[in-house]
Amino acid sequence: MLNKRPGPELLPTSVVGSYALPSWVWTAMEAIRAEKYGPTDVRETFDDAVNVAVRDQERAGVDVITDGEMRRWYFVQGFYDSFTGLEQIPPLRTQGVYGYDSPPRYRVVDKITSPKGLGIVPEFEYLRQNTDHAIKMTCPGPLTLTIHMQARKGDAYNGDRVALAYDVAEIVNRELHAMADAGVTCIQLDEPSYSIIPGETHDWVALYNQAVRGIREKGVRLGLHVCFGNLGSRPRGKRRYDWMFPELLEADSDELVLEFANREMIELELLAEIAKAKDVGAGLVDVKSFYVETVEDVAERVRAALEHVPPEKLTILPDCGFFQLPRWLAFQKLQRMVEGVRLVRQELTGSTSSTS
Ligand SMILES: [Zn+2]
Repeated sequence: MLNKRPGPELLPTSVVGSYALPSWVWTAMEAIRAEKYGPTDVRETFDDAVNVAVRDQERAGVDVITDGEMRRWYFVQGFYDSFTGLEQIPPLRTQGVYGYDSPPRYRVVDKITSPKGLGIVPEFEYLRQNTDHAIKMTCPGPLTLTIHMQARKGDAYNGDRVALAYDVAEIVNRELHAMADAGVTCIQLDEPSYSIIPGETHDWVALYNQAVRGIREKGVRLGLHVCFGNLGSRPRGKRRYDWMFPELLEADSDELVLEFANREMIELELLAEIAKAKDVGAGLVDVKSFYVETVEDVAERVRAALEHVPPEKLTILPDCGFFQLPRWLAFQKLQRMVEGVRLVRQELTGSTSSTS
């Protein structure tokens, strides 16, 4: 039994999570790092940024929106401030184009804890107060949260990366319960790391299941987003899902959210397998390309997906977060996505009015 999907019954549209940061947020971040902003300035800056992300999604007509992850920094990097037991060490590379070898790394010096939680509940509370739309909250998965942590022999985990990840899973589980108790009804966990960190899909899914235990039982709808990495609009992992199946179906989730557009729509046949047990979120807009999909491009991709999954089980999204795109481009892509989906909805219902 799946928990209720938000949005319209046929082909709801949503986003994976992050939205393009307005340019003034980058400027503000520099000022904040230079300690030129007081706490009120900081709060207002990010409130304003969330308002922009929310209004853009609403204006584009997206059914289920997020706060654009405006309060986060480079997807997971901001969360490291909330952990204890870590010591920052220099990045591997500091020159040239920012890439997967550029972020700060963290050495484990003690058991990992997060005494004040991950901070997603206040993100939700602000978003809930500032939109009437259906909303989804995102949380990086336990494996992905460990991606910049280094477990070494002799440390608190004696180099056992999996043991470390299970402690992080407990932190995620506490956060998810706090979110559920605060009224969140739709959560997506993001795990691009399945294709990046060496290991078995079965083990990573078991880790995810540990992190989400008891959440669906509270009536919260859970999605699991698995992609191949998006730092600097670059993928990192081997860009196929077939080797993750059928293990990925063991995830305790209502929905799997996967990317197809940037992979030229290969592996759509997997949707049929997923749809036997779960709903499907299909990424049909390419967040790694400056090419703006036409309405007909999107409609064509939706029709192709519908050959494998019924419209009652299909949500349409971009492939991944928009954080690495300029805002004008992210907005255009959302608009086209929504219009393309509306076209197909009309074909399905025989109606000419919007069904959103
Ligand atoms: Zn992604």
